[in-house]
Amino acid sequence: MNLLYKSTRDVKLSVTASEAILKGLAPDGGLFVPESVPELDVTMEELKEMSYQETAYAVMKLFLTDFTEEELKHCINSAYDSKFDTEVIAPLVKVGDTYHLELFHGATIAFKDMALSILPHLLTTSAKKNHVENEIVILTATSGDTGKAALAGFAGVPGTRIIVFYPKNGVSRVQELQMVTQKGSNTAVVAIHGNFDNAQSGVKALFEDKALEEEMAGKGYQFSSANSINIGRLIPQVVYYVYAYAKLLANGEIASGEEINVTVPTGNFGNILAAYYAKQMGVPIAKLICASNENKVLFDFFRTGTYDRNREFVLTSSPSMDILISSNLERLIYAIAGGDDGKDRKLMEALKSEGRYEITPEMKEQLSDFAGGYATEEETMAAIHDTYESTGYVMDTHTAVASHVCRAYREKNQDHTKALVASTASPYKFVKSVMTAIDGKYSSMDEFDLIGELKKVSGTQVPHAIEEIQNAKILHTRECDVDQMKETVREILGI
Ligand SMILES: *Cc1c(COP(=O)(O)O)cnc(C)c1O
Repeated sequence: MNLLYKSTRDVKLSVTASEAILKGLAPDGGLFVPESVPELDVTMEELKEMSYQETAYAVMKLFLTDFTEEELKHCINSAYDSKFDTEVIAPLVKVGDTYHLELFHGATIAFKDMALSILPHLLTTSAKKNHVENEIVILTATSGDTGKAALAGFAGVPGTRIIVFYPKNGVSRVQELQMVTQKGSNTAVVAIHGNFDNAQSGVKALFEDKALEEEMAGKGYQFSSANSINIGRLIPQVVYYVYAYAKLLANGEIASGEEINVTVPTGNFGNILAAYYAKQMGVPIAKLICASNENKVLFDFFRTGTYDRNREFVLTSSPSMDILISSNLERLIYAIAGGDDGKDRKLMEALKSEGRYEITPEMKEQLSDFAGGYATEEETMAAIHDTYESTGYVMDTHTAVASHVCRAYREKNQDHTKALVASTASPYKFVKSVMTAIDGKYSSMDEFDLIGELKKVSGTQVPHAIEEIQNAKILHTRECDVDQMKETVREILGI
């Protein structure tokens, strides 16, 4: 029996996994969700012995039921290979009394690689299965990390083109350089004069533009998405929570069946939603702690039941979390509305027209698995500093937000459940903020000189991704206004 995927805004719309991956977004603007989250059909005892790739197969086969074993294993083995700088793919590191799940050992040194190294394979396999002849145009909005990870994943992949939009002044210098130096004749990178929410809304509008879709089809193109609205992003992210739990068990850090708390630095709500799915599959997770930076729209939502994006957008030192419209929250809203597509649609329409919505008390009750917290800029810097001083471990700014929130939650609630923190980026990617947090004397130094200093204080290797950009040529200089995104796509595609 195939597991089907439904749109959160119209449950009559149901498709197979490969169709959902190809489409990205449902035609009615909703997100695809599995009819039900499958339960693990292997035991933790079995998972304890599995490699990352074996775990990936055990988890993903339950979601991608229209892929053959051979197809799925081929996708997994092509993704999780020597592009990662460690054989275990996602190492667990004990830092003080917390376990950090390091998700940044892939090609672009952020957790986006965990899903974006496999998405191109899932997508091209899905295209073959569904006899798609068109060239697939991946359209992506990025707050900094998705863009490069998607470019790296799709560069040179036959039958695909990729266009990335990023906020001109909203990413770190390393992030920007990583994108604008991307090679590959099928790649395009555009800086927009706006913030991430503008980029994401613009991309969503292009997906929903029926006239453009027809025009594209006439020229042999169709859009798909590499953002975490695509279930081909979300499902590979469930894997590492299953893997982490099994490894904690294998290493004797927890007892069989013992619950853990998971804290995730959150922007678009993709990573933490994957943890929620892992919990539903049977992984013993107690609390899912959603960590925000000063753009704390999610913290307010979990506290009050009102989602309100009408506020100032703050540029922080954790730019990949500078988001006021967390797209994947819609999947949680749909779930806590009991799968009521009408309710979901109404709330999302309110979000679009008024920028806010309020859930019912019954819905709010269903959120008891979640807790929210946030870190100010000062608290983020202090977390980096203090953790370095007490353990020698250097965290990036995003992970530091989660680390602060995890500690504050533990103290406030006197909850001493073992804690896992999703560690989402290498400190090398945000070297300026990280080094300045460690010691104010670094604040005036050049970003590239700081790389050597970080190597010294952390005792870690400079990642290949950083060496690569130091002398690379800038290949992308295109910019556009928010209302020119459609024209820009036309220009790039030559239609
Ligand atoms: C994207 C990103 C996040 C936020 O993840 P979401 O799935 O969007 O919530 C956090 N940290 C880093 C480093 C990221 O790149």
